[in-house]
Amino acid sequence: MVVLITGASQGIGECIAKRLAKDGWDIAINYYPTNDDRVKAEKVAEACRESGVKAEIFPADVSDFGQCAEMVKAVRDAFGSIDGLVNNAGITKDTLLTLMSEEQYDQVIAVNQKSVFNMMKPVVKIMMKQKHGAVVNMASVAGLYGNPGQFNYSASKAAIIGMTMTAAKEVGARNIRVNAVAPGLIKTPMTDKLTDEQKAKIFEQVAMKRFGEVEEIASVVAFLLSDDASYVTGQTIEISGGLSM
Ligand code: NAD
Repeated sequence: MVVLITGASQGIGECIAKRLAKDGWDIAINYYPTNDDRVKAEKVAEACRESGVKAEIFPADVSDFGQCAEMVKAVRDAFGSIDGLVNNAGITKDTLLTLMSEEQYDQVIAVNQKSVFNMMKPVVKIMMKQKHGAVVNMASVAGLYGNPGQFNYSASKAAIIGMTMTAAKEVGARNIRVNAVAPGLIKTPMTDKLTDEQKAKIFEQVAMKRFGEVEEIASVVAFLLSDDASYVTGQTIEISGGLSM
């Protein structure tokens, strides 16, 4: 079984790659096409190979429709199938709505939201021919409840939840499942950028009063991709230490 993970050179994506390798998946690691990211992605691939599976790296800017199509073709040529897809790549450009530039809005929508279309269109076509497949999209609690300073990010993540349900309804009869996870505050380079004020505000509402660990996201993604979740589709699983209660 082959899984393609976007933005897997660091953070949550890296952890998902290593976890799925341990579970026996062959891993296609997408990385943003820079030298730095290539080096990091190759290290992730090496770590995955230590689990005895095949792992290769594939550059593409996931906000670019053409690059995604080429990457998906390259992955299928290299591995023969694509059985799982994790749309993990994402960015933040945080600021208050009234200060947000059009560029900040458009960039976040392109990378976080349009990428899911760019990736799912070609991958789901392959999965339909295979008559099986599972997709996990990376949403966020910001898409469920909103978060001050993240107007663009909340828009992108809320859209992903809708896209997940629509795709699940379109392809469920083809034995393809589409789910999302909505992490809360997880310890990664992305959340290092949050201000202390933003973190304190989030902790006020977290039942478990701590950050989540990347492994705690990877384990839910692994479940959703696995046959253990064979009757789960169209769902968004919140992984937030009890943010919403
Ligand atoms: P991160 O910044 O550590 O990793 C993001 C990855 O996406 C990086 O590898 C980056 O190179 C890649 N990426 C960015 N733009 C790209 C592009 N155009 N094309 C290809 N790759 C690109 O962040 P993370 O915390 O690991 O976040 C991973 C996902 O989880 C994101 O979708 C993020 O929105 C989501 N998320 C994170 C948290 C959190 O607390 N960290 C919470 C909720 C959701």
